[in-house]
Amino acid sequence: MNAEEKLRLAEERVEADRQRRIDAAIAAVAAPGTDSCIDCGDAIPEERRIAAPWAKRCIECQEFYEAERLSK
Ligand SMILES: [Zn+2]
Repeated sequence: MNAEEKLRLAEERVEADRQRRIDAAIAAVAAPGTDSCIDCGDAIPEERRIAAPWAKRCIECQEFYEAERLSK
């Protein structure tokens, strides 16, 4: 394999990786939310599901999750 082929393969890998991340991001946004919080299992209020259909946590857990994430 010559240098040119190696470079091309590397570029293809980067492109495939980029595409995978884009697909994952789209899937995360498009994925329907859930009726119950993934952290505490409580039902997510309907108004929250309407306001944020992608929400996977109840408001309390979401706030906790975001506070945790920001503190790191
Ligand atoms: Zn919760």
